[in-house]
Amino acid sequence: SSLTLTTHLAFSRKKKKIAIMTSGGDSQGMNAVVRSVVRTGIFYNCDVYAIYEGYEGLVNGNNSIKKMSWNDVRGFISFGGTLIGTARSNAFRTPEGRLKACYNMIINGIDALIVCGGDGSLTGADLFRHEWPSLCDKLIKQKRLSIDQVNPFRNLTIVGLVGSIDNDMSSTDSTIGAYSSLERICEMVDYIDATATSHSRAFVVEVMGRHCGWLALMAGIATGADFIFIPERPPNSKTWKDDLKEICLRHRQKGRRKTTVIVAEGAIDNQLNPISADEVKDALVELGLDTRITTLGHVQRGGSPVAFDRMLATFQGVEAVKAVLDSTPSTPSPMIGILENQIIRKPLVESVRLTKSVATAIENKEFDKAMSLRDTEFGESYNSFLATSIHDDGSTLLPENKRLNFAVIHVGAPTAGINPATRAITLFSLSRGHKVFAIQNGFKGLIRHGSIRELNWLDVDEWHNLGGSVIGTNRSLPSEDFGTVAYYLQKYKIDGFIIIGGFEAFESLHLLYNSRNQYPIFNIPMLVIPSTISNNVPGSEYSLGNDTCLNSLITYCDAIKQSASASRRRVFVVEVQGGYCGYVASYAGLVTGALAVYLPEKDVNLRSIQEDIDLLKANYKRDRGENRAGKILIRNEKCSKIFTTDLITDIIMESAHGSFESRCAIPGHVQQGKTPSSMDRVYATRFAVRAVKYIEAWNEKINKTEGFLGDDTDPNLRFQYVHGVKKPIIDDLDESASVIGTKGSELKFTPISEILPEVDFERRTHKNVWWEKFNEIGDTLSGRAMLRREE
Ligand code: ATP
Repeated sequence: SSLTLTTHLAFSRKKKKIAIMTSGGDSQGMNAVVRSVVRTGIFYNCDVYAIYEGYEGLVNGNNSIKKMSWNDVRGFISFGGTLIGTARSNAFRTPEGRLKACYNMIINGIDALIVCGGDGSLTGADLFRHEWPSLCDKLIKQKRLSIDQVNPFRNLTIVGLVGSIDNDMSSTDSTIGAYSSLERICEMVDYIDATATSHSRAFVVEVMGRHCGWLALMAGIATGADFIFIPERPPNSKTWKDDLKEICLRHRQKGRRKTTVIVAEGAIDNQLNPISADEVKDALVELGLDTRITTLGHVQRGGSPVAFDRMLATFQGVEAVKAVLDSTPSTPSPMIGILENQIIRKPLVESVRLTKSVATAIENKEFDKAMSLRDTEFGESYNSFLATSIHDDGSTLLPENKRLNFAVIHVGAPTAGINPATRAITLFSLSRGHKVFAIQNGFKGLIRHGSIRELNWLDVDEWHNLGGSVIGTNRSLPSEDFGTVAYYLQKYKIDGFIIIGGFEAFESLHLLYNSRNQYPIFNIPMLVIPSTISNNVPGSEYSLGNDTCLNSLITYCDAIKQSASASRRRVFVVEVQGGYCGYVASYAGLVTGALAVYLPEKDVNLRSIQEDIDLLKANYKRDRGENRAGKILIRNEKCSKIFTTDLITDIIMESAHGSFESRCAIPGHVQQGKTPSSMDRVYATRFAVRAVKYIEAWNEKINKTEGFLGDDTDPNLRFQYVHGVKKPIIDDLDESASVIGTKGSELKFTPISEILPEVDFERRTHKNVWWEKFNEIGDTLSGRAMLRREE
């Protein structure tokens, strides 16, 4: 309905002329923004202009301002950098420069400017709007423009989008480009790892981020670094070298063959002295380590945007155009951001002010304040880093009587993220004095072979970037033999059970939960950490491995598109996994720029296929041979029994009557990816640390009931066994069997009893489809929505 309202507004008034510009440092995803703004603008009956070379182009005018057509942005979604150029413009910083910019806007008839850049660019944009009325007057006064020319443009609309790899902007959880940059960093550190391990070397890796430690922090978690230096948590100026040495030495003594230290470019100590990579290196050399420095530099801006940035850029571009259409002379300029997974508008001035206040807090040595001004995820991630990297020094050990035994099992198909999660569970547990037992080869391994082994620090140390499942996984369920499962949980005195996997993991939890009355040992706290490319685990919006899968898919589809565009008139039908959950297909469709998506949630029939063929024909007609990117249709593997991938491909081929051809492509297990994406690694660590804390909290609760002397035949009481001792549970028992998941960017635990109503057991997925918006926006940007409207 919001779509209809905006459409109505767009058509009911004078045609808007919107300009889009990229400014400041480039970041991956800026092109996806331009594509999204251009196409959404055209969809809403606006003229859209691209301003080349940032503010420099606005000052220069002429050829730097170009009207964009639908086809001009074809293929943009896959490219890194910015194809419309960016610059740091000194001219725009001067009043005369801004006057020229105002002139160029008016003579081109443009009254709305969407700027994608960092805080500097957005500050400039806000200043421009603030000055606009006086600039207009000046142009009239200087007789460069007449009153009649100026009057229709008395109001300037400004909308800001944050394109920056630094993730330093307040009021948004993520800036466009940050996750792509993190991905590049992790790829590079993975490469360095190999040589570091070979030579038993230490590497000091300097990463970008200016005054923000986000990239360094997340890279530290994702690469299993020994130590990180970030501006928000500066180390003690007097002791940091000794602290660093002690930690690295300890890790070496435990058997680690390499040392990785990540230094943010803005790293400082608590007296605000900069900490350079060279100083860090010197400290490590004193330790006797053969140490090298790698300054990653501009590779961090390189490469194709990751799936998340493509999604973020696309959604925000759409929202920016809507914000232009909604704006009135009195609306404050908005900045588009993402909070709790929702695209939001915030007053731009306020966001820039808040962002600057972090730098001020750091300058004033108010480091706690600086931390709190970053988003909630930042603080939690910092604690996760400490928990898995630094706290192995015995400082966080629990008293003997609170130490627990954890069991971890992998269930279902292997996914990237499962090993990093197990690693983080183990490292954090060991730092608390717990023991972790890995059940090998799923429930089958346990039931048939009793395969359990205790994990130690060195076992898991290298699992931060390993895909697949080291301890083995399969689809078997505990129902194969509950008694044997119970026997082993008793035998190893397990206090908490963590099941990592997809829908089968959820099913396993459900089965164990239902058998609690028969097998009292199943009353220990049990958790599922969702890990499946399909993202079909009820109780969470995010599953580990899903991001890796999407990134594998975009790489695959980009390659196919290139091939398809080289052979001109070819369309590929790509079959993706996901079972009866259309999430992966919908997301992949959006971020690969697919023309159509076939989903299990939607009826696929001859009429819908005919619509796709019409859309393809319209597209090829518009291309007139100058095709820059191939065409892709995404088909979920289970969307229809009748309309198989082959059949759809054949129908398209037949209906095209030789005007184009079709092929099918099935990436299959490629979708599991090889190396977990940086986002999956970071989430794996967050999930793991929280899972361990959750089980600790439950055992606290259980222990409080120790010394129970009441009537243990009372039917109103339920019991659980802790190390073979029967103890009553007074309340909240259901919560002790939960799924850890995300809702927005928050982590939460949902008891299985609460999740059950949302589960479609037959189709093994959620009942609630929250990703429908992916398809709506996909339809707008593929041109389908426009074609429908024309009809
Ligand atoms: P990044 O975070 O990647 O560095 P940024 O947008 O912060 O991006 P800046 O170099 O600070 O990068 O700003 C980009 C451009 O915005 C500047 O070159 C200048 O043209 C304009 N700009 C920045 N600040 C102002 C200002 N206070 N007044 C006018 N223009 C400004």
